Amino acid sequence: MSARATVTATALALMAAACADIGSPSRQDIYEWRSIQGSDTLSFHWPQSFLPVRIWAEDQYSLPAFADSSIAAWKPAFLYHEWDAVRVADSADADVIVRYGSPPAGDDILLERLALDARAAECEAATLPHIDAGREVHLPMHVYIRARFAPELPATQACLALTLTHEIGHTLGIFQHSPHPEDIMNGNPAVPHPSERDRNTAEVLYHTPANVSPAPRP
Ligand SMILES: [Zn+2]
Repeated sequence: MSARATVTATALALMAAACADIGSPSRQDIYEWRSIQGSDTLSFHWPQSFLPVRIWAEDQYSLPAFADSSIAAWKPAFLYHEWDAVRVADSADADVIVRYGSPPAGDDILLERLALDARAAECEAATLPHIDAGREVHLPMHVYIRARFAPELPATQACLALTLTHEIGHTLGIFQHSPHPEDIMNGNPAVPHPSERDRNTAEVLYHTPANVSPAPRP
């Protein structure tokens, strides 16, 4: 059995344990979403009590509209509304803050500093979930996204749109990249929307017990 097949089998076993009450969806085509750091495997999803997740996007280069389309792109993955999000008008109310620009220097970056190559060279982004030793994610999570050049050009706008959907995928708990180029959660995303495999992975992750939880809202 390959490593990936082992991961899939483990994930499905966990899902079966967690979700016996909703039948047995056949969601075998998924990828590893957990953050694995040595022997420490971190799995996060938003608890029902936090829904809808509140997302604020800086009013630069259509980011609020792209946040709306990102939320709409992920919602269909959740057949039972296991995850939901809304965009809020005030950053003070937000669980997730999306800013135009680069992450602050010296900030911890758990996931990646995306350096998108030729398939989406026009922009780059990073998502920074701060997870403390108590396995709590500090709120708000921060997403930074920026154009590399000419943010008003259609190709750059398309890059910002699909890359923000990728980053929102990280914020909902997909802490790793898909190895498949046709998935939005590939490390070098090129598709505009989550694939069926992205949606399957998101659904399975919300039916897998989490060992990381959000800190109380301030
Ligand atoms: Zn990423």
